[in-house]
Amino acid sequence: MFKIAVIPGDGIGTEVTSQAIRILKKASQILNEPLEFTELKAGGIAIDTFGKPLPEETLKAALASDAVLLGAVGGPKWDSLPYELKPEQALLGLRKGLELYANIRPAIMFDALVSASSLKSEVVKGIDIVVVRELTGGIYFGRPAGIFEENGTRRGVNTMTYTVPEIERIAHTAFRLAKTRKNKVTSVDKANILHTSMLWREVVNEIHKKDYPDVQLDHMYVDNASMQLVRNPKHFDVILTENMFGDILSDEASMLTGSIGMLPSASIGETHALYEPVHGSAPDIAGKGLANPIASILSAAMLLEYSLKQKELARKIFRAVEGVLGEGCRTADIASAGQNVLSTEEMGRRIENAL
Ligand code: NAD
Repeated sequence: MFKIAVIPGDGIGTEVTSQAIRILKKASQILNEPLEFTELKAGGIAIDTFGKPLPEETLKAALASDAVLLGAVGGPKWDSLPYELKPEQALLGLRKGLELYANIRPAIMFDALVSASSLKSEVVKGIDIVVVRELTGGIYFGRPAGIFEENGTRRGVNTMTYTVPEIERIAHTAFRLAKTRKNKVTSVDKANILHTSMLWREVVNEIHKKDYPDVQLDHMYVDNASMQLVRNPKHFDVILTENMFGDILSDEASMLTGSIGMLPSASIGETHALYEPVHGSAPDIAGKGLANPIASILSAAMLLEYSLKQKELARKIFRAVEGVLGEGCRTADIASAGQNVLSTEEMGRRIENAL
């Protein structure tokens, strides 16, 4: 039995996650494979219930599951709490506890939404990019880090650091993924300036030569990559990059395609994986049935593809989403003037029916 730990979290997290579960239950019927769901608390709701954002029992159950499906955490109610007690600490605790070193974020342009992009249709039509971002190393975690007193003034310090094994494992993730797609990796670095990037490029080239010579590989400096993403996004298939560059580029890539309510993600480690929409708990629309469940539903599709190895079924979910969008179904965030607006639940139901 495949065990899924479900962490709906706060705000619209609970609303969109219930629609993703609707789709997973349908998937379970199609596959004729039982899925076991265990609901867990993290974020603001866990603070209210247990006094901490990530209770031990939640982490323990997540570790014991085959995959985690998360909604979103946070909200104004908990904003004034000290840093270590904020709901967002649950995300950091889960990433660390589950050792999730690869963040995978697709940016896919649905034909029906081409006009919602801020770029010209001919530039964005057909975009299908995945950003593979290293998630546990680089400048966000390097030591020393802090603000130090020195010679009568203060100095802020961060350290960018990568070891060869850290680069190797994320490079393998990107190359393996490329082989299931258009077979192309663009490794993004700043190897003209940064020593970490020089090592990054060297290691990526070695892994490519040794294990994936049939995959097309090119290298791009991060400044150029950010330019090419808006100039010629169809150049890219899989973008492989380190933590901070990936943080910035994955937001840029995903916003090419329209609303934040459409963007799924996966965070993957050696033995665990967590799937979640890119968006937060959206307190401004929470509880009103206005949230777009597609990001969460596509996160569930990624779960089926990466953790259950059901790529064909994941594709079917994608096509079901594409189908309902093609029929003109819209939640408020992606509706144009005059279009009929569906509730979160109604959108989930339409996608289930299309599946
Ligand atoms: P947000 O992503 O929650 O919302 C940004 C804007 O996008 C809002 O106007 C919201 O209504 C809209 N939006 C987001 N998701 C949508 C959806 N599915 N359908 C329709 N509209 C959608 O970001 P924020 O407002 O900066 O943060 C709100 C809270 O969420 C904060 O507490 C923040 O810390 C937290 N947060 C959590 C996560 C996470 O759990 N992974 C990520 C980002 C922010």
